[in-house]
Amino acid sequence: MEARERMLELIQDEARLTADETGRSRLSDRVMTAMGEIPREEFVPAGMTPWAYDNEPLPIGAGQTISQPFIVALMTDFLDPAPDQRVLEVGTGCGYQAAVLSHLVAEVYSVEYLAELGNDAAERLRRLGRSNVHVRIGDGRRGWPEAAPFDGIIVTAGAPAVPPALLEQLAPGGRLVIPVGEGLWGQELRLVTKDAGGHIHSRAILPVAFVPLIGADGAGGQKS
Ligand code: SAH
Repeated sequence: MEARERMLELIQDEARLTADETGRSRLSDRVMTAMGEIPREEFVPAGMTPWAYDNEPLPIGAGQTISQPFIVALMTDFLDPAPDQRVLEVGTGCGYQAAVLSHLVAEVYSVEYLAELGNDAAERLRRLGRSNVHVRIGDGRRGWPEAAPFDGIIVTAGAPAVPPALLEQLAPGGRLVIPVGEGLWGQELRLVTKDAGGHIHSRAILPVAFVPLIGADGAGGQKS
């Protein structure tokens, strides 16, 4: 538990250091409590457990990563999650971000492109009792139309542009947090909101480096 508390301190330290860009010097208690409840060591590969609570991304196989804890917390904080909400995640990976969200909202719908990762994550989330997380294998750029609209959408891989289906599936008043940009460098995390009238607003939060979105139609670039 000590390592997990240290991780929470490192997250708030980085929030302070990036406050000029993000406009948030402290992440909300509610989000930080959720971060403190998730055993990150359960989500990293067996050999990586000594580093599970470092504030760093780690490899999870298939060329993918579990995101840096600060970035997970920051993205979650910008989603402003509320207990009655339904949220879509694109890029389940190992399921860590979905687990954090499952403590904060009513239902989490998470889409993973790679079956090997998505099936493992679904099994892990089941084992940890996160019964309000629904995992589907598919191309998350199409969203999850049957479960839409969503109060929040979080994309955890870099997109060249905001996928139109995700904007459609965002509820009025909804918030979309997404890394936008080509390749690994030059991405910025963006907050995209849909107001009550259906108009879209977008603003930059922070420069980031996510693995790129992948998919068969080539719109998401290639795996690197
Ligand atoms: N959310 C994860 C981080 C995942 S890394 C966490 O909590 O740690 C990004 C993930 O997005 C990878 O697992 C990758 O396979 C997945 N991904 C990439 N392109 C995708 C797409 N088009 N649809 C759904 N998932 C995708």
